[in-house]
Amino acid sequence: MELEKTLLRKVGEAIKKFDMIREGDHVAVGLSGGKDSVTLLEALLLLQKRAPISFRLSAFTIEQGKFLASIKPFGEYLRTRGVEWEYFEDAPSFRLLDEQPDHGCDLCSRFRRRAVYEVGKRMGANVIALGHTADDFCESLLRNAMFTGRMAALPAVTWSAERDFRLIRPLVYVSEEITTAYAAKLTAPVIPCGCSQKTGTVRRTLRDIFKDLEAEHPFLKENLLSAMGNLETSRLLDTRYLPADSGGQPAAPPAPNPFPIVMEM
Ligand code: SF4
Repeated sequence: MELEKTLLRKVGEAIKKFDMIREGDHVAVGLSGGKDSVTLLEALLLLQKRAPISFRLSAFTIEQGKFLASIKPFGEYLRTRGVEWEYFEDAPSFRLLDEQPDHGCDLCSRFRRRAVYEVGKRMGANVIALGHTADDFCESLLRNAMFTGRMAALPAVTWSAERDFRLIRPLVYVSEEITTAYAAKLTAPVIPCGCSQKTGTVRRTLRDIFKDLEAEHPFLKENLLSAMGNLETSRLLDTRYLPADSGGQPAAPPAPNPFPIVMEM
């Protein structure tokens, strides 16, 4: 019960702070088969009952040929929960897998994004909820800073290019420790993605670094999240945010990354 309270408090905080869900929204939750997105769905179902506004909830899963087992049992689970679910086999992703089996995350996520919008449109949703957690935000911040030369993590709320969807990440303040514990209490099947088994990736390395540091500094991720919302631009080097008498310059296109590294998650 305490776990559920913590989860709902953190999801509620994010929804309120970033104005994620509004009256009359149709929120479609992207289910990846993992613990995070199913925790997100359950949290939104609980909050839907308590919210002072009315919104609709549904779910979808994009099949890109990477699940290690059939995702169909998920459909059974969702039926028992009374959740409308769209299972979408994305033919272009399957072709990509055939033609370029070793393609990277950039290409894979581009294909997924297109499929997500296609399903979202078909379902009549105007909001897509994604299950990225606090851990994903922290890893993304470090990955961008260390490998792409940008201070950026993930947007808590953003819009699709055509602005037909608001994309929200209500688990921004929820750690994977919480989603793991919460999902373990559910009867939902967890269907792993083949990529989750990969070793030697940047993502895995960052996870190991966090794990080591957190053994001595348990609030590391809380601090990183707090830092993302507490910029001191005068102590950074982006001249767009400095006063004119301290080197401030009008906005210019960002400089190319001098150390480009091909990213793998
Ligand atoms: S880890 Fe990368 S390649 Fe694998 S499913 Fe995710 S985005 Fe696609």
